[in-house]
Amino acid sequence: MAWYEKPAAPVAVTPTEAIWAVCNACKAYIPREEWVAGLRVCPLCNYHDRLSCRERITLLTDEGSFHEINTKVTFSDPLKFEDASGPYAAKAKATVAKTGLGEAVVTGQARIDGIHVMLGVMDFRFLGGSLGSGTGDRILLAAEEALKQKIPYIVVSASGGARMHEGIVSLMQMARTCAAIAKLQEAGLPYISILTDPTTGGVSASYAMVGDIHIAEPRAMIGFAGRRVIEQTIKQKLPDDFQTAEYLLEHGFIDHIVQRKEMKTFLAKVLRYTGCVAAKA
Ligand SMILES: [Zn+2]
Repeated sequence: MAWYEKPAAPVAVTPTEAIWAVCNACKAYIPREEWVAGLRVCPLCNYHDRLSCRERITLLTDEGSFHEINTKVTFSDPLKFEDASGPYAAKAKATVAKTGLGEAVVTGQARIDGIHVMLGVMDFRFLGGSLGSGTGDRILLAAEEALKQKIPYIVVSASGGARMHEGIVSLMQMARTCAAIAKLQEAGLPYISILTDPTTGGVSASYAMVGDIHIAEPRAMIGFAGRRVIEQTIKQKLPDDFQTAEYLLEHGFIDHIVQRKEMKTFLAKVLRYTGCVAAKA
């Protein structure tokens, strides 16, 4: 009775991560090669996917010009914090091993269209881009170095906020980083803040929002408390586009929204506008 047997189910061809990238916003499948070549921006809906800090640095700086500083500065565990999922120190060490990063921000000197700058780029993969004591130290030390060298300072934020594992010590970083940036501004040196998806919590409430100019990527989520918390507090429904870069631009919180592929050119234009000139090679 072979003809009666159930035919074998066709082998399901599952699109793998290696071949396809799935857009988080419109759920479209985009060939991975096209996705990477397009700087992880969806060609259909213009969703800007998250970048690693290394990808971001490559995108923004002149080739081979980035020199990392503060590499020895890393996380600390002042509270010997432990929760149900284990000790913080073990989690942080595993993150360092997995990402190859010592902290949630990478800082260094670079050139943008020939102009010397100090750059700090956050990476969401490192404990949600959280602001811990090591992150704060790196942001602060880079600001001090920019002041010493009299060069502009640019920070690209991507963060879920303060690192709760470090308690009050992480919250103190908000004041420390802003104080260091204020010194730059007193010295007349530009501080440019770039906000990417997501920039929230303690980072949006400190160094990400004290720039001379605030630039965001399209549709980036930028805010302090989460939508649900605010809705429950004020007992009102918030608009759908609340906490998007577009909403913030409309309400005067940020100065400009720039497409990823145009970010470097735009930055160079802003730097030249503030009087910076390209260094002689
Ligand atoms: Zn899309």
